Amino acid sequence: GGVVVAVDGTSGSGKSSTSRGVADRLGLRYLDTGAMYRAVTCWMLRHGVDVHDAEAVAARSDEPRLESGTDPLAPTILLDGDDVSTAIRRDDVNAAVSPVSAVPEVRERLTAAMRSLIREAAEGPGIVVEGRDIGSVVWPDAQVKVYLSAAAAARASRRALEEGGSDVEATRASLLARDQIDSGRAVAPLVRADGAVHVDTTGHTLDEVIGIVVGLVRD
Ligand code: C5P
Repeated sequence: GGVVVAVDGTSGSGKSSTSRGVADRLGLRYLDTGAMYRAVTCWMLRHGVDVHDAEAVAARSDEPRLESGTDPLAPTILLDGDDVSTAIRRDDVNAAVSPVSAVPEVRERLTAAMRSLIREAAEGPGIVVEGRDIGSVVWPDAQVKVYLSAAAAARASRRALEEGGSDVEATRASLLARDQIDSGRAVAPLVRADGAVHVDTTGHTLDEVIGIVVGLVRD
């Protein structure tokens, strides 16, 4: 079957661009699991669920219907049939996604959905999967595991640029706040998985990082 490449790391470490670039170069599918957590968060906000009330979030965690497209050149995410690829990047979602992701019922449901997408792609060309717990929890048998990190300043300026020149300092604060929750939560915290190769992307170009990961897959 096809290879499974797990790319985990902090917010703004370059996971998405790297993962898409690697998938494109190697003819693999691509799955953005952060987009799935963001879409569920979007649903909770739209339905007036208090995202800081874990029981309330858990009680409705079965309701959002998600469909994830796995084309690395045109990743899509549908929520109840609507394209939410823009809505999931908004500030209200940035601020709410970490508490929603810390709810075990949300993680169980999304992890099951991820596994079925990965299983399907692995029977075909293979897939690059990016997230926080792919190598540790979702797919510990991944043939290649990468843990990406970058200095906070580099992450903030990169993300602010992606967001169209928004305030770097505000972006930095928001990234660091999410990382703190993601790393400190009880269920599936962000960790470097067993066997993951650590790549610090600070001071590397995107092409260089893609080249490093492609090299790991080809070895
Ligand atoms: O990757 P991205 O920054 O879009 O992820 C948004 C949030 O989704 C993360 O801050 C984290 O709380 C959550 N997430 C997660 N597990 C994953 C992927 C994302 O908890 N596998």
